[in-house]
Formats: sequence, C-alpha cells, structure tokens
Amino acid sequence: MSLPYDDRDGWIWMDGEFVPWREAKVHVLTHALHYASSVFVGARMYNGNIFALEEHSARLRRSAEILDFEVPYSVEQIMQACTDTAAKNGLEDCYLRPVSWRGPEAIGVAAQGTKIHTAVAAWAWPSYFAPEQRKKGIRLTHAKYSRPAPNTAPTQSKAAGLYMICTVSKHLAEKAGYADALMLDYRGYVAEATGANIFFVRDGALHTPTPDCFLNGITRQTVIKLAKEKGVEVIERHIMPDELSTFEQCFLTGTAAELTPVSEIAEHTFKPGSLTFELMEEYTRLCQGQLALA
Ligand code: PMP
Repeated sequence: MSLPYDDRDGWIWMDGEFVPWREAKVHVLTHALHYASSVFVGARMYNGNIFALEEHSARLRRSAEILDFEVPYSVEQIMQACTDTAAKNGLEDCYLRPVSWRGPEAIGVAAQGTKIHTAVAAWAWPSYFAPEQRKKGIRLTHAKYSRPAPNTAPTQSKAAGLYMICTVSKHLAEKAGYADALMLDYRGYVAEATGANIFFVRDGALHTPTPDCFLNGITRQTVIKLAKEKGVEVIERHIMPDELSTFEQCFLTGTAAELTPVSEIAEHTFKPGSLTFELMEEYTRLCQGQLALA
C-alpha cells in the first residue's frame, strides 16, 4: 500500500497559498463532503511542462459553472498555481490535481452562501495501470452502472459526484480480477471506462463513441488529432456492444491512463497492434515536447 494521501511530505496550494501537505485540511461539515459540490481535473507534467494545462484549467472552471459555482481564480491563475505547485515540490514529472469545492458555510441542499475553495496537489504518479498490464493490454469487464443521461446528471462536468458509479464499478471489476470496467450509456451504447475514454481499431480506422453524455477527454481529443495527422480515418459515432467482436484493437485514453491497450472486454478479445503502439509513442513524444501538432 502506498503512503496515504494525507500523510506525505511537500506542499499543497490551497486558496492562494502553500500549506504543508499534512495541514491541507477541510472541516467535516464541508458542503462538498455531504452533497458532492466539488469538481476536479487531473493534468500531467512531463519534463517540467504540464501537458494541455490551459485546457485542464479551463475545464475546472467550466465544470464548476455547470455545478452553479464559480472557481474564484482565472484560468491563468489556475495555470500558475499548477506550475508553482510542481516547482515548490521539486517535481518535473508528476500528476497534478486541481480541485474546487463548496465550504461549510451552509449544510443543506441550497448552498449559495458557501465559500468556494480551490487547491492544487502534485505528486509523482507514473502509470495509472501497472506497467506489465499495460504492455500486454488490460482486461475489462462490464460495469455495474451506466453513464447517466445528460438530463439526469451534469455529464459534461468533471464533477466528483459522477465518480461514485465509477468507483463501485471499478471495485467490482478488480474483485473479479479485471483492471477496469466498460461503462455503457443510458441508451445502451458503449461509453467509456471508469476513468478513461475508449477507442477501437477496425480495418485501419479508429472508432470512438460520441461524447454526448460523458467527458470529451483532452487525451481523446489529442489522439484524434494525432490520428488525423497520420491520415487515419476517425469515426465518432454511437457504438453498440454487439459490435465489440468486430474490432481488432482497443485502447483507453486519459491523462492518468495515457494510452493503454486493452486485450479483453469480457468475452471479446483484442490484440494490441501497430496503430495502437504508434499512437502511444506519438502521444508520449507530444507530451514530452518532442513532437508538435500542426
Ligand atoms: N472519462 C473519465 C470518467 C475520466 O475520469 C477521464 C480522466 N479525466 C477521462 C474520461 C479522460 O479525460 P482526459 O483525457 O481529459 O484526462
């Protein structure tokens, strides 16, 4: 078991200043803890550069707006806080977690009067999936829960509350010996994994679900650009689960997961192949500043 996340050395940026890691605390009557009035994003720093920092920072603000609160920092200030947090902790390759939430000034459903807090933590987090799993391709099962409809949840917000169905689905998957779970959406279409988007390869083309009820990941958008630049056809569409057997390759995308090949979704098997490996390598080179997008 790794060190608990509240008992580490270092500094956390909290409401505009650095506090020692172990002192970055909230009260038990924090609104966010009871009503999930919290949003977060995750970004990665490679060789001292945070990939797509502006997009991630804008997403934090946008996610909060969807939950009817305003992050009290501009996109530029959030970006600066991230850069400063990595520097203060002496990190050049790390994961960054900006988070914004409603404080304890009210404890009911209505929360207009609560103060909005924002923090940024950074730590070394090499790979979301174990390296030996990533090499062979990870195994997914079906998730217990489906992605909710846009009129039943704030599906375009990176809202903490949307992750409860992901945590339960991922626990059940891990208990059954899988690395993750494939979530369908409320209509029964293939949606995404519990913390990453999904792509399939068939006849040299990429197929990926239309992000109309789940996050349009920044990694997803980047991989689509990389593929198009290579002349690969990218088809964003609704995908039915009975099509899974027709795909040759499958991979996940996400800031934490980067590109992770999938070898199995329940009874369907895939063989990680050249297009997946090429995109993995190009994504890494792009993040490391060795490749630029047109
Ligand atoms: N879907 C979910 C549920 C996620 O948690 C993430 C990771 N943030 C993604 C997709 C991928 O988003 P991104 O590529 O922007 O990290």
